[in-house]
Amino acid sequence: MDCPSESATTAEGRFRINANGKLLDVWLLVRCVSCARTSKLSVYERTPVGSFDPAELDGYHANDPELVASTLLDPLLARRNRFTLDWTEAWRLDAPSAGLGEKWPVQVEVVFEDPVPVRPERLIAQGLGLSRNEVRRRIKCDIPLRRTTSAGFTFTVMAGD
Ligand SMILES: [Zn+2]
Repeated sequence: MDCPSESATTAEGRFRINANGKLLDVWLLVRCVSCARTSKLSVYERTPVGSFDPAELDGYHANDPELVASTLLDPLLARRNRFTLDWTEAWRLDAPSAGLGEKWPVQVEVVFEDPVPVRPERLIAQGLGLSRNEVRRRIKCDIPLRRTTSAGFTFTVMAGD
């Protein structure tokens, strides 16, 4: 019986390494969110041991969390294994709590720690406590506010009414 779920998680984040002579296979293990069945995402296939950076290889053996994250964020891995990342509720905004001052305009820089795709208008509305309408009226930005981005950008807040 096949499970209808198409979502999986890396859970605690584990790699599996299989050595075949001097060739290594490396997989990232993922678990179905519904039936908990484990499957493997291919990271390396039949790759000569000598071509690995030793530190990277140690990271695979140690299930290094940063290596799990960077592997998962690698667009090549997604393409090869035909999956897309689900970022729903996966991001958090760290904004200064001081709020906006009295002097306009104010320039704000947004920095991404990970390339999480998000619409700038949503990010700005949440970060500054503005309505979508206010965002459209008061924000000047070089990139389209409604188009998803995952790279840092800068915007300017103009004075309100
Ligand atoms: Zn399942």
